[in-house]
Amino acid sequence: MGAVRTVSERVRVPETLFEAAGLASPLSRSALLPVRRSGSGTDLRGAPVSFGVLGSSSSGNCSVLKVGVGKNYRLVLIDAGLSPLRTRRLLGELGLDAGRIAAVLLTHLHRDHYKETWGNKLPSDAWFWVHRKHRSAAKKAGVLYRRTEVFDDEPFDVLGLRVESRLAPHDGMGSAVFRIDVMSGTGSGEGVGVAGAERVCSLGYATDLGCVPSEAEELVRGVEVLAIESNYCDRMQLESGRHAFLIDRIMQDGGHLSNEQCAEACARLEPRRAVVLLHLSRQCNEPKRALAYHAGAGYEAWAAPEVGPMGLMALDAEGGSSVTSSGGAMAAGRAASA
Ligand SMILES: [Zn+2]
Ligand SMILES: [Zn+2]
Repeated sequence: MGAVRTVSERVRVPETLFEAAGLASPLSRSALLPVRRSGSGTDLRGAPVSFGVLGSSSSGNCSVLKVGVGKNYRLVLIDAGLSPLRTRRLLGELGLDAGRIAAVLLTHLHRDHYKETWGNKLPSDAWFWVHRKHRSAAKKAGVLYRRTEVFDDEPFDVLGLRVESRLAPHDGMGSAVFRIDVMSGTGSGEGVGVAGAERVCSLGYATDLGCVPSEAEELVRGVEVLAIESNYCDRMQLESGRHAFLIDRIMQDGGHLSNEQCAEACARLEPRRAVVLLHLSRQCNEPKRALAYHAGAGYEAWAAPEVGPMGLMALDAEGGSSVTSSGGAMAAGRAASA
């Protein structure tokens, strides 16, 4: 059965028009851009949003956004690289119900980001979102046999969140970098691009990339919370005893970000409140080592646990620690920030 498409495409106003007109940064104008909507039709615009990591390593990656409060909440997963059973258990540890998953955004189709056992384990009204360039890999993995939306550079709407992506180089297939904007409940009409709705705060999500290309940098610069890969320590990688071919593959521009490259990227991207380090290599990295690069920075830094869950972080929290419920592995993973 082919993918069901119920979205309406609208013409996107290029961000460069805003820049050409001398308006503020694309981030602050983003509310005005029309976007297409997801098929689920649920719009929780204006509801509080929190972010957590269920697990992040070469054995499985999955993060979660909780949109809404009380009984009226839905979940968005970023990657589904843990088994459905484990994901359900880890969500349960955060008091969240896997039956509330409304969408899964896939950065790419490597096995540590999508487990084929997810096939038909999603709730019936949930949707997968895959990058246009990952369609054939997704089809092979069975993703396109169920409700699936394909995205590219056009912004799209998930539960009233505005999502935009750019592809970064990674192992030939590329990996989707996301900016997810939480929008205000003001304004009228359908979708995120309505007049009057404003960007409240944003999450940047960048994992599995050998470098941060300028388009991806522009996309996630100045977000409130930046989740970004800090895969390996250069020295540990070079002394790991791994095959030279593997070391080369990891350290090249289409591989993974080192601690140093991650810290340099964070300095350029100027996250406003917090950085969450993703995908730390078990063999070639340590949380302390990765976090040391961010000591004294003007943001909180956390190392995501290999298997979490990391406590949920309120995206729009003002001041103080942003993690509102703690996960054991996370507790020790905070850098001594400024
Ligand atoms: Zn990975
Ligand atoms: Zn990968």
